[in-house]
Amino acid sequence: MAWDFSTEPEFEQKLEWMRTFVRDEIYPLETLDLDEATFRRLTDPLREEVKKQGLWAAHLDPELGGQGFGQVKLGLMHEILGSSIFAPTIFGNQAPDSGNAELIAIGATDEQKQQWLWPLLEGKLRSAFSMTEPETAGSDPTLLKTRAVRDGDEWVINGHKWFTSNGSSADFLVLMAITNPDVHPYQGASMIIVPVDTPGVDIVRDVPTMAEPDTEFGRYGNHSEIYYRDVRVPYENLIGNEGDGFVLAQKRLGPGRIHHCMRWLGQSKRAFDMLCERALSRYAFGSTLAEKQTVQNWIADSAAEMQAARLLTLHAAWKMDQEGSSKARVEIAMIKYFGATVLYNVIDRAIQIHGALGYSTDLPLEAMYRHARAARLYDGADEVHKVTVARQILKSYEPHDMPSEHIPTRREAAKQKFAAMLDQATANA
Ligand SMILES: Cc1cc2nc3c(=O)[nH]c(=O)nc-3n(C[C@H](O)[C@H](O)[C@H](O)COP(=O)(O)OP(=O)(O)OC[C@H]3O[C@@H](n4cnc5c(N)ncnc54)[C@H](O)[C@@H]3O)c2cc1C
Repeated sequence: MAWDFSTEPEFEQKLEWMRTFVRDEIYPLETLDLDEATFRRLTDPLREEVKKQGLWAAHLDPELGGQGFGQVKLGLMHEILGSSIFAPTIFGNQAPDSGNAELIAIGATDEQKQQWLWPLLEGKLRSAFSMTEPETAGSDPTLLKTRAVRDGDEWVINGHKWFTSNGSSADFLVLMAITNPDVHPYQGASMIIVPVDTPGVDIVRDVPTMAEPDTEFGRYGNHSEIYYRDVRVPYENLIGNEGDGFVLAQKRLGPGRIHHCMRWLGQSKRAFDMLCERALSRYAFGSTLAEKQTVQNWIADSAAEMQAARLLTLHAAWKMDQEGSSKARVEIAMIKYFGATVLYNVIDRAIQIHGALGYSTDLPLEAMYRHARAARLYDGADEVHKVTVARQILKSYEPHDMPSEHIPTRREAAKQKFAAMLDQATANA
């Protein structure tokens, strides 16, 4: 089947509008150290402009107020938005709210949609996804310990989570907990909506990280550590059915992962532009850096790696559009680790070419580098995605005692196959 990543000319015009808008209106905001309220004041008119252009929450289906673009168009769009850390919030598709909205949309009742989904989509409420625990391996959620026990028409929740992104600035948490320990964990976990102001929800801190070592509590983008102690929420806060936790998590994480990969293309390109600009501008040892072979290698390698990442991303997006996200599991896993490594390497080279300036906070590269490191961990560590890819690939192979390409064995088989002709050739010689 032919792959087709092309889009109609009208959409190309929209992409061009986005490029200019992000560069002229959003990049300048990155240089100001704004508090939450001022940021909101400055960016609300930009959000209105995005809505007027019909580009708000483009990841969602039209019945949810989105544009129903499909993944290939989204890929091209996210590539532009990903270049600035602020752009996704101005286009209404920032993680984790975008993934949570999709998850709630899949499993929510009408009442839940009224109470949580519509306000989330309008930007009136904020959400966080609370799955990873410090005591159990996040890579293997079958080990989750947080328990939700039904008591009449309520859930009683006890557990300990961390790295709940935006937990301290969210209005509600989408919690993954074990609701039935007597069945296989794939059927025993559920998702439950927990408002953050419910008694027993104790957000003890925002975990300082490589990206934000000195962050203030409650800042948007922080990663919270949360204790749930005898937290009681109504039974109807369950999303979907009891035991749907893993299915919903997969539905949320598939698209969420590829949206990260799309955004990384934009981050990589921005670092690459800085790399090329500096190569042409800096002079040392008798020539510009652009004339040094090592630097040429960086440029050539980065360009090829970025192109490979772009094609892998668009191909995964195309497959999701054609066959759905579960059929594109391998493609999504592949671009998740490949894209994260490309991002990291391109930023690293861009820092290197700028020398001390690249290491300083006078350029955005050091912050990009710190954020990029996390890409190899969140939404599944590289190694776990590699396991998925390798397992699927190996399904189309069989073990052989002797390698099937073993030349002496093949020679014997070939001799038998052509025996008559070989005998003839020998007789004629
Ligand atoms: C910036 C950031 C944001 C995050 N946001 C959220 C969020 O919003 N909500 C949430 O619930 N979680 C969030 N997480 C947590 C994230 O999902 C987990 O960190 C991730 O799933 C890995 O789990 P872990 O940290 O417990 O590491 P572990 O599971 O302990 O794994 C540690 C390491 O072990 C190795 N490893 C694991 N399995 C295998 C394997 N099969 N083969 C080979 N090696 C393996 C890998 O190198 C891995 O990095 C976030 C994490 C980060 C860094």
